[in-house]
Amino acid sequence: MNTNKPMWGADDRATATGMKSNRGKEPSIISSEPALRVVMRRLRAIMADEGDGQSRLDKIVRQIAGVMIAEVCSIYVKRRDGSLELFATEGLNADAPHNTRLKRGEGLVGRCAELNEPMNEPDAQAHPAFSYRPETGEEAYKSFLAVPVQRASQVLGVLVVQNHTQKEYLDEDVEVLQATAMVVAELLGSGTVAGSDADVEGAKSQNAKLAGEPIADGIALGHVVFHEPRIVVTQLLSEEPDVELARVDDALTKLRASLDEMFSEERLMVAGEHRDVLEAYRMFANDRGWVKRLRDATQGGLTAEAAIERVQNTTRARMLRQSDPYWRERVRDLDDLSDRLMRIVAGRKSGADDPSELPDDTILVARTMGPAELLDYDRTKLRGLVVEDGSGQSHVAIVAKALGIAAVGQVGRAVEHADTGDAIIVDAEIGEVHLRPSPELVSSYSDKVKLRAKRQQRYDALREQPAVTKDGVRIALQINAGLLVDMPHVAQSGADGVGLFRTELQFMLADRIPRTDNQARTYKAVMGEAAGKPVVFRALDIGGDKVLPYLRPNVEENPAIGWRAIRMSLDREGLFRMQVRAFLRACAGDRLNLMIPMVTTSAEMDLARAVIDKEIARSKKLQKPLPTEIKIGAMLEVPNLLFELDEFLPRVDFVSIGSNDLMQFLLAADRTNARVGARYDVLSPGPLRALLSITRAAERKNVPVTVCGEMAGTPVEAMALIALGFRTLSMGAGSIGPVKSMVLTSNVAEVTEAMDQWLASGVLDIREKLVEFAKSNSIEI
Ligand code: PEP
Ligand code: MG
Repeated sequence: MNTNKPMWGADDRATATGMKSNRGKEPSIISSEPALRVVMRRLRAIMADEGDGQSRLDKIVRQIAGVMIAEVCSIYVKRRDGSLELFATEGLNADAPHNTRLKRGEGLVGRCAELNEPMNEPDAQAHPAFSYRPETGEEAYKSFLAVPVQRASQVLGVLVVQNHTQKEYLDEDVEVLQATAMVVAELLGSGTVAGSDADVEGAKSQNAKLAGEPIADGIALGHVVFHEPRIVVTQLLSEEPDVELARVDDALTKLRASLDEMFSEERLMVAGEHRDVLEAYRMFANDRGWVKRLRDATQGGLTAEAAIERVQNTTRARMLRQSDPYWRERVRDLDDLSDRLMRIVAGRKSGADDPSELPDDTILVARTMGPAELLDYDRTKLRGLVVEDGSGQSHVAIVAKALGIAAVGQVGRAVEHADTGDAIIVDAEIGEVHLRPSPELVSSYSDKVKLRAKRQQRYDALREQPAVTKDGVRIALQINAGLLVDMPHVAQSGADGVGLFRTELQFMLADRIPRTDNQARTYKAVMGEAAGKPVVFRALDIGGDKVLPYLRPNVEENPAIGWRAIRMSLDREGLFRMQVRAFLRACAGDRLNLMIPMVTTSAEMDLARAVIDKEIARSKKLQKPLPTEIKIGAMLEVPNLLFELDEFLPRVDFVSIGSNDLMQFLLAADRTNARVGARYDVLSPGPLRALLSITRAAERKNVPVTVCGEMAGTPVEAMALIALGFRTLSMGAGSIGPVKSMVLTSNVAEVTEAMDQWLASGVLDIREKLVEFAKSNSIEI
């Protein structure tokens, strides 16, 4: 990120920075007193006056037209069907209110409501969206300025001013109109404007479908809870501008101090993207333009909260208008910073409200969320997660998967569209989010959820049944895990143990390298949760896409084949030994199965063993209690080992095939690149023969061999693996049921014979053969 770029302030520097500004032109508002203050004073008087809502709206349009020297000022209110009804006007025909209605999205007014952005048009009639309504007498006006009337990000209506002459309204005009729109929103929300109450509800009840990417499978129906609750500004106007100014100044000081504090944290001392982001925040927080606008707004008569919201809205709209994508990207920074400031002013802490108040069907909505933050929530109440950023590989996705909650990421402007308590559906099968869904949609999704639950019930019924094929071959089905929260899945799924415990996840979620005690505590807890079933711990597999935020980033062209896993552990022996010590301690009096990732050569395995032996010798010397049995194995995921199996296998107690990496290296196809990931089929002769050569060699050398990559988790692939001779498979907990169904309905002798035949006869599409075979033999795949 280029932090030398200009900031989003709009004071005198704005012109120099290239941001569009009309400063220097004559303002429409003629007064020696700041326009905003004049307007606020008058609005305050209107709100304090006797009279119903409609008469207040009428007074507001009159006052605004007067102060802004506008020939027309009008208020349109959104109806349940999305149309906009003219409710009050100064300047248009007197009988137009309640008779003029624009269809959803019609005309410039409709467009303003749809985009939820101000529209400033010097020549409205020349605009392609202009819609002529003869009953209004609108044809005489050229310039047009509209701002959305919104409350908690719901558009309730539109406030418009128009003038005869062709001109572009100034930023000051936009600000005045936006501040007025806040008051109008209050009025509409108060239920005192006859005929508008239903529409306020209507604005909320509109369905919205938001697209994203599935990051943790599942479908969830529930209600919105903001991870960082948005503060709804309830008091707009203040009688004491100096008090509000002091509140803003105080909050700004605290904001800057908190950013400085974050900056000085050790883990952020190193360069990297997070530091750049923080650097930009700090510059923004000190930006004179932004600060001046906040202070001016309070001086104009807004409370500190209202001032922050208004400046956020105007700045955001201005940034979105810029053609330079840099500014559009910075909108998120502005929103984050404004939210932080708002929380400080309102005396709220970051994080969700009181967890005890979470609804039982909570769906969290967040701009961004760290994995540790997700773990802070009560799992029993969480159903789903929607984040504006986040990918399938992100850490929060890993945690969401472990917790078994449906999660969709990359959902742009989710926070803006949602409201606390809104009904929401998270469809993480396809990556869609439905806000305020229609009853039909709710019912169709409820059916889907029931169907999934039924399928799950069928798998649950198999829980206690051992996975034995029709011809009596026992297949061990284990789960892959990486967090303590994964461990209950062993019992829940009826798995035979943990075939892969990815220890790096604990490291990835922590703020710093976990100490030996800490590591040992986790491993011991894992052993306890496994309740006697075997667990295979994998030594740290850092590097590639697994990054530790607190380690100096190591910039590599090809991180997947770079300095990762055992390569790093052998160079950072201290780190490796610390972990081995933790394993020895955690498994004292029990069996330790330890697996080394990314071994490339037999000699490398010797080096890894030597380090482990050193630690064992140290423990013995110190008379520490040791595991009763120590089995040292290796992940087989680098193709080179396939060509030295005879040398390699005698050096290990077991091997587990990391098919994710083995296949990406064998097929030269990046596992994280969707474009090439699905291009080559692992169920084709090359990969299958490679796997067969491993089972044959392992049998010869009498070394147990398993598969723990994703390949083991889909029934067809698992069937192929059984045909190739594998008898232990480790997979995501959700796959145990489907794979067990396949095992219970298959016959090893028959599928093995078929596979041998296909491989011998030059069949290329072995997947097709397997699927046909399953169908004709009633195997559940
Ligand atoms: C693999 O490569 O198949 C594997 C299980 O390891 P990881 O996915 O953690 O790289
Ligand atoms: Mg791997």
